[in-house]
Amino acid sequence: MHWHSRLVQPQTLAAPGFESLATPTYRGSTVVFKRQADVVDDWKQAENGYSYGLYGTPTALELSGRIAQLEGALHSFVVPGGQAAIALVYFAMCKAGSHALVPYNAYGPNKEMAQGLLKNLGVDVEPYDPLIGAGISDLIRENTTLIWVESPGSVTMEIQDIPAICKAAHERDIMVALDNTYAAGVLFDAFGHGVDISMQALTKYVGGHSDLLLGTVSVNNESLKAKVGITYKQLGLAVSPDDCSLALRGLQTLGIRLTHLEASTLEVAEWLTKQKEIAQVLHPAFPSCPGHDLWKRDFIGSSSVFSFLFTEEFTAQQVEQFIDTLELFKIGMSWGGVTSLALVYPNIDRPGKDYAGRLVRLNIGLEHPAELIKDLERAIQAISQSGVTHQRSKNVPLDRVALE
Ligand SMILES: *Cc1c(COP(=O)(O)O)cnc(C)c1O
Repeated sequence: MHWHSRLVQPQTLAAPGFESLATPTYRGSTVVFKRQADVVDDWKQAENGYSYGLYGTPTALELSGRIAQLEGALHSFVVPGGQAAIALVYFAMCKAGSHALVPYNAYGPNKEMAQGLLKNLGVDVEPYDPLIGAGISDLIRENTTLIWVESPGSVTMEIQDIPAICKAAHERDIMVALDNTYAAGVLFDAFGHGVDISMQALTKYVGGHSDLLLGTVSVNNESLKAKVGITYKQLGLAVSPDDCSLALRGLQTLGIRLTHLEASTLEVAEWLTKQKEIAQVLHPAFPSCPGHDLWKRDFIGSSSVFSFLFTEEFTAQQVEQFIDTLELFKIGMSWGGVTSLALVYPNIDRPGKDYAGRLVRLNIGLEHPAELIKDLERAIQAISQSGVTHQRSKNVPLDRVALE
């Protein structure tokens, strides 16, 4: 062979038989077939054989299988991020003329998609009170095809009565989709509590190191698998095998990270409940969190993200200064990584509530909790003592923050 040809079509030279503990990172778009007659374009590669890298290389399918196992699902679709997973659920379950229900404390970009893309395509998404429970029945219409639940909800952390909502939905043959990101797919048993579709942002706890974006949509019956699968194929939600490989590594330490994060987070939250400057701690394991009893009934643990509210003596400016004074806590979006994060939510929109820029969300990382508490204490003291010497905060544009 000409050396050009040999470079393109090499023989494998490395000896076979390398038995590593790591899942290999398989790259590939084209899949080669033995015969023309074997050529298919089928996303169901686990059953029908590999056909195209778009539907996942063995690295992505390994991750898919392990998430499905962890969540007790029949199948998990791995997609490029949590927001892509939300889109996949909407597009699989809704069409022009459909009505969907989404709790008003849902992940901001979910609501943004509802009011943007989906509205333009003729899908009517209606926000509802996350604490509505069985009362959801009254909001169901003839054309309702999907009910979202998210528990605890983003930022304000309300726990929902998911079994009651599922019961009401199933009486009318409506599917319930859960954003199960907080629970990492494990602290709350979605399918055991009646949910039909469980999605999560692997970006958070499975990735666990703030260095990748991935999401999953898990289903536990064949008809939903087929329905979501058709949409998944058409949307072209390709994922990088390198990211999947990192997520597979993340899974190996997920158990120990969650256990450690739960304990550290409880320690920090507990300390905050005792500070006179703090009006309310919104952490599911504390009675001050709306729906705490439901958390006790339905969850096997809590994780690393929670919020707290400064008392009314503090201005929004002082709370912003509090954030800027923190040193160990970094200012940034997302959560579930090893680094502690803090963000103020100045424009959080909850019917009947005005948090007036006093609501702060924390993600607790793997730093020593006593030092995190010191950091918080120092920043609280700084804003309690000082008149406000204020500068506009650093990196995060406020209108962007309000969406999370
Ligand atoms: C972060 C997050 C998402 C979106 O995940 P990305 O991977 O960042 O797109 C969805 N839902 C919840 C609850 C989240 O916290």
